[in-house]
Amino acid sequence: MIKTQKKLPEIQSKLYINGEWREGSLDAKAVINPATGEQLIEVSQGGKAETEEAIQAAKEAFPKWSGMELSERVKILHRIGDLIEENIDRLALIMTLEQGKPLSEAKGEIQTNISNMHWNAEEARRVYGETIPAPNNHKYEVKKQAVGVVGAITPWNFPSNMIVRKIAPAISAGATVVLKPATNTPLSAIAIFELFEEAGLPAGVANLVMGPASEIGKALTESDDVRKLTFTGSTEVGKQLYKQSGDTLKKISLELGGHAPFIVFEDAPIEKTVNALVQMKFRNNGQACTAPNRIFVEESIKEEFTEQLKEAVKKVTVGNGLDDVTVGPLIDEAARENIEAQLADAKEKGAEILLGGERLTDGEYAKGFFFEPTLIDQVDQKMNIFYEETFGPVIPLIAFNDEEHVIEMANDSTFGLASYTFTQDLRRAEKVSRALEYGMVGVNNTGVSQAEAPFGGMKHSGLGRENGHYGINEFLETKFVHTSYFID
Ligand code: ADP
Repeated sequence: MIKTQKKLPEIQSKLYINGEWREGSLDAKAVINPATGEQLIEVSQGGKAETEEAIQAAKEAFPKWSGMELSERVKILHRIGDLIEENIDRLALIMTLEQGKPLSEAKGEIQTNISNMHWNAEEARRVYGETIPAPNNHKYEVKKQAVGVVGAITPWNFPSNMIVRKIAPAISAGATVVLKPATNTPLSAIAIFELFEEAGLPAGVANLVMGPASEIGKALTESDDVRKLTFTGSTEVGKQLYKQSGDTLKKISLELGGHAPFIVFEDAPIEKTVNALVQMKFRNNGQACTAPNRIFVEESIKEEFTEQLKEAVKKVTVGNGLDDVTVGPLIDEAARENIEAQLADAKEKGAEILLGGERLTDGEYAKGFFFEPTLIDQVDQKMNIFYEETFGPVIPLIAFNDEEHVIEMANDSTFGLASYTFTQDLRRAEKVSRALEYGMVGVNNTGVSQAEAPFGGMKHSGLGRENGHYGINEFLETKFVHTSYFID
């Protein structure tokens, strides 16, 4: 039931370059509410010219920002964190309106921003170098210095945190940034940039360019002034940006797709494991690169597990994220079509749909991109759903009998981002977490994204890590200085 009618708060709609809100030279673009199909606002668009101006502004701001007294820089960073906290309701509302996720989840995402901002502000004080033992009258020093201008490209699924997770460590390190947010969700970016301005972040330190993705991506990757590219999005686009960055030998971080295995051994407490699965799976309606997408359940408990899971999935409510629902709409029509294609392929090859499986189109669902929470059984390695990322509310079940085989199946993926395993046997937990070819393993929990811990993937899930000291290190150069005390 769609009950709440909330309006978009007053918000900027322009690019932010060198400390100024500016119209771009291209036609403005509509931002659509995916729950209602309604246009929220039009935002200004820029292309190559605006991106180059933004790069120039970031380049000019860099010496001053990286050379600013550290305590001053830290103060500004904490101020941004405080302002995000003061504006949590506003930021969450904007996110729900343009992205669709329930308001409570949107607030959770803004909470993560607050911890990312303060954590990185503190970490700026701990960018330690090193002194290496050297011959007499010589000094070997290792210094960490900010990388320079950073290009950042972010997706729509976590439209606020993917931005903060990049910009917080970058500017903490002393780097300056040009951001291109996702086309579907520019308002969350604008709302954060308004707070950068209010916090007194100097002009040029963070710049916002909205517009055609490939044109802006090309301008960022081809520029020799951009020394680092950080991207979250699809594996396909990530690979393209990696190639494009070859000529300018850019440092690069890529957070790409995932297809997380979720392995349930027979000694796992069923009720708690079902709850953990349902909570993680339906977060953002399954539109997360860490979403459990292949659920391996040991044969001996599979029937009981499936029964309890069915009951839990039946309780998942679907609707406008402004109302009190578990999940909102999907982001667009293409997202629904992808899920339908995966389900059709799986059904044809012998999978059984236990719950859901259809789009929701009646009444108040008519204008949004809604889909039923779906449970599907008898999934196997012949089906596309076993290998292709599922960005939606679908739980595929796969039975297994032994440890070796389930590890082999879990690793049978080009992706290697998040993975989960539930067992009370510590020996097994250790063995399985070592064997999983994934950048993150949740053992008896699904919390793999923390401000202080490294987030990132192996294989086609990407390069580099975000969060923790690993995250800030992505924006630092290592410089060796050898000093002789005498000129001989
Ligand atoms: P998703 O499936 O999450 O939308 P995409 O990789 O398509 O993943 O998008 C992630 C971000 O990359 C978005 O900001 C999008 O506009 C941008 N993007 C898409 N294509 C390109 C491209 N060719 N060059 C640069 N950025 C791109």
